[in-house]
Amino acid sequence: MGKVIGIDLGTTNSVVAYMDRREPRVIINEEGGRVTPSVVGFSKTGERFVGEIAKRQMLINPDATIHSVKRFMGKRYREAARDIPLVNYEVAENRNGDAAVKVSGRLYSPQELSAMILQKLKSSAEDFLGEPVTEAIITVPAHFNDRQRQATKDAGTIAGLNVLRIINEPTAAALAYVHDRRKNATIAVYDFGGGTFDISIVHIDREVGEVRSTRGNNALGGADLDRLLVDWLAEQFKEEHSIDVSADKIVRQRLRDAAERAKIELSTAMETEIHLPFLVADASGPRHLQVRLSRAMFETLAAPLFQQTITECRQVMEESKLSPADIDEVVMVGGSSRIPRVKELVKEFFNRPLNHAFNPDEVVAIGAAIQAGVLEGEVKSVTLLDVTNLSLGIEVEGRRFAKLIPKNTTIPAQKVQLVSTVVDNQRAVKIHVLQGESALATENVSLGEFELVGLDPAARGVPRIEVKFAIDASGIVNVSARDGRGLQNQVTIRAPTGLSKLEIEEARSEAQAHEDRREAAAETKDLRFAVEKQIVALETFLREHKAVLHRQDSSEAEQALKRGRMALAKSTDKTNLEDTSNYLKRFAAHLLDKMGGVQLS
Ligand code: ADP
Ligand code: MG
Repeated sequence: MGKVIGIDLGTTNSVVAYMDRREPRVIINEEGGRVTPSVVGFSKTGERFVGEIAKRQMLINPDATIHSVKRFMGKRYREAARDIPLVNYEVAENRNGDAAVKVSGRLYSPQELSAMILQKLKSSAEDFLGEPVTEAIITVPAHFNDRQRQATKDAGTIAGLNVLRIINEPTAAALAYVHDRRKNATIAVYDFGGGTFDISIVHIDREVGEVRSTRGNNALGGADLDRLLVDWLAEQFKEEHSIDVSADKIVRQRLRDAAERAKIELSTAMETEIHLPFLVADASGPRHLQVRLSRAMFETLAAPLFQQTITECRQVMEESKLSPADIDEVVMVGGSSRIPRVKELVKEFFNRPLNHAFNPDEVVAIGAAIQAGVLEGEVKSVTLLDVTNLSLGIEVEGRRFAKLIPKNTTIPAQKVQLVSTVVDNQRAVKIHVLQGESALATENVSLGEFELVGLDPAARGVPRIEVKFAIDASGIVNVSARDGRGLQNQVTIRAPTGLSKLEIEEARSEAQAHEDRREAAAETKDLRFAVEKQIVALETFLREHKAVLHRQDSSEAEQALKRGRMALAKSTDKTNLEDTSNYLKRFAAHLLDKMGGVQLS
């Protein structure tokens, strides 16, 4: 078995790590970064880029630059209304009712787009480790429901990764803590990222950790802070120039870029200057934006959002029936937890020291790598039990919700429920499975209507069908059923949401084909470069040794150069490039030989 990698597939940034013997290590990507922006960009010619390069084209090509796709993972289109205004690209409804992204007339599922990011991380890991990587642990926010977890797992499958387990981000952070500290403690994991906020309480007793409770808000993060600043900047601009730029996509994108930079700068500086020349132009000429933003002003604007995170902290403490005094340490996770005011508020609320042992950007991936080490058998000392963060249940009479597996149950967990028919000779039974806390079924998240079909005719109430609801260690729900005679195959179960097996398989081979094309293109590029170098070397040689070269040799050399240039002109013919490169190499050797060992460099 090759290495199992741990992946923090973030809304904004992703990080991949692995266990180097007993120590977790972050993998450096092709661009030399430890963090890869979770951004996929499509060029006008249909090429695609992932990471830093894609993020750079956001400004000039916002419609085809897909960021924060995690917001749409496993969501129905109608559930995505809050998230759509936060992105610049088009979000549409897929055939199955799920949210999807439309680029140049083509629909991409969030799973496919996430798979593109995962493919990039996978190939970074393969380059770094020098061996194929096929297995991974992927983290998700604690409050992700079954559909979102399943979608994440499917994204892994599409990317050619066997996802051994999905773990909660705070659980991963706690794992990193346990691995590092090896002591009993109750910790709070405060994760303020780019798109989501999570707070979890984890109790660690002799290397067994238990997530006591966890809360989150998946629409609260650094991007929301940026948005506040964008609005503020647009307002400043309007006041000065009387031009409303708030609806212009490209301008907003420039403002967003500047806002994020200013925000990050204010984590260390007390004041920053935002300068955007030529923001717009009208009849009277170009208009520039130039404003100063102080840390105090930023803190005032952002105070309500900061406060929301503290409210979540207060609620999680209530739910876990603990007081801040019971917390030993607070582990800060996520880029936004670097904001000084945030640190102050958290410290104030818990009245406890903040743990600074970890890089907030990396601690989740590090934890995932440790979990990978546990599954590989490399790390023995750490076990961390996880809990389900949403109650699982079914719809019963009167559109009410009956809980089968309550929130905060340690996973894996299962529950068997007996189901019967309500009319004579009923051949099918529908079971509507949901996740959530409301007593009303309609207010919870529907995982799908499962249909048990092929029942034998019988009087009502006679068939006894055992329906097993299981939540696996990844928090993924499995529903299976068998009738009273133990014949499992007599009932079939159809869940109508998410991607079908066939769709996943199709996307998987498409992703593989893309990977093959990418590799072939990279080889062609290398060959072209080799030929280009040989041409330059030969040209230089000819120029420098003009005086001493025989006419015969010069004309042969000109012929060789011509052949080289022709091969470059037919840029995609790999065999031709390869032959030409070999030919040029032989020719250079032959020429050198004749010249009696003059250096051809
Ligand atoms: P996610 O978990 O959503 O992928 P990250 O944990 O990588 O996100 O955090 C990304 C967010 O953190 C972005 O909104 C970014 O602007 C913000 N961020 C990064 N560094 C800083 C900093 N020094 N000060 C304030 N915000 C920061
Ligand atoms: Mg994160």
